[in-house]
Amino acid sequence: MRIEEDLKLDFKDVLIRPKRSTLTSRSEVDISREYLFLHSGLKYQGIPIIAANMDTVGTFEMARALGRHQLSVALHKHYGEQELSNFFHEHCALAPTFYSMGITRADYDKFCRVREQTGESIRYVCVDVANGYTKSFVDFIHKLRKAEPHITIMAGNVVTGEMTEELILDGVDIVKVGIGPGSVCTTRKMAGVGYPQLSAIIECADAAHGLGGLICADGGCTSPGDIAKAFGGGADFVMLGGMLAGHAECGGELIEQNGVKKARFYGMSSCMAMDKYAGGVAAYRASEGKEVLLDYRGAVEKTLQDILGGVRSACTYVGARKLKELSKRTTFIRVSRQLNEVFGAS
Ligand code: 5GP
Repeated sequence: MRIEEDLKLDFKDVLIRPKRSTLTSRSEVDISREYLFLHSGLKYQGIPIIAANMDTVGTFEMARALGRHQLSVALHKHYGEQELSNFFHEHCALAPTFYSMGITRADYDKFCRVREQTGESIRYVCVDVANGYTKSFVDFIHKLRKAEPHITIMAGNVVTGEMTEELILDGVDIVKVGIGPGSVCTTRKMAGVGYPQLSAIIECADAAHGLGGLICADGGCTSPGDIAKAFGGGADFVMLGGMLAGHAECGGELIEQNGVKKARFYGMSSCMAMDKYAGGVAAYRASEGKEVLLDYRGAVEKTLQDILGGVRSACTYVGARKLKELSKRTTFIRVSRQLNEVFGAS
């Protein structure tokens, strides 16, 4: 047994210190980014925020709504082959849409069939497992990269620099970072495993950037300020689940409770999701996700405006004319625990 004594931080433990700035208005801030992916060689241009591949967030409708604003979606993996093929044939957005898959034989075969039908339309893939430290995951990445040299691969999740480096050397373009921070995730409670998300972002971004790779901070953002902190800590992309849930584009079940419309939102490893897609929770495992009811929020447009406005505002406070400059201009100040408990760091 070993204990690491280094301080590790979550979003709530810090604030971004304001800095002198020559910007006069938020409208002067450009929050789009351009990247050239290390392995696929593809060029990206867009606002690097991605809707999570959860079945009530990563929907076709969300891809259409976010795509109009240059944001991306990782589609959930439970769509049928035909609807995926139709979508990729027809969809042309201002930002890429990710095809998501796990690492089973069935996942790979389904991907191959959809790819055959859609040809070049699928150029971004998200390979998603709860634990990105397994040999079977790394073997899958090798196989996929060999078969698809020109597709941009985002894959995870991991939380440490050495595994980020390994995945980038194995062929991943964007390493997905986050174990346990998700709004409907119970991994920290059920397994006692995890890593404070801001420190994971800072450490993994440092490791990835050293090799020319990128990271996507996945999970734990509950406000636009958290997204700004993730970018400030070095994230190249930020993935959102809960912040985009409960909207008209989510397609989930709506429930009326005391005259208020509520939307069901649940983790992809929750009993709810496993009952729906896997015929229940297998006897050898426990669910690592929970179910919540959120107030229904209507169209995602207004939420988007808040998110983009918040990130622009953060850039203005530190004098970053472009999102690219935000992390260079970020100094985090630690918020004392008492202050945090009384006021929250928001
Ligand atoms: P959020 O933005 O809601 O805080 O986090 C979204 C992320 O939570 C997803 O992208 C995914 O990585 C993670 N997630 C989604 N469902 C589950 C689940 O059931 N269990 C765990 N451990 N993580 C989940």
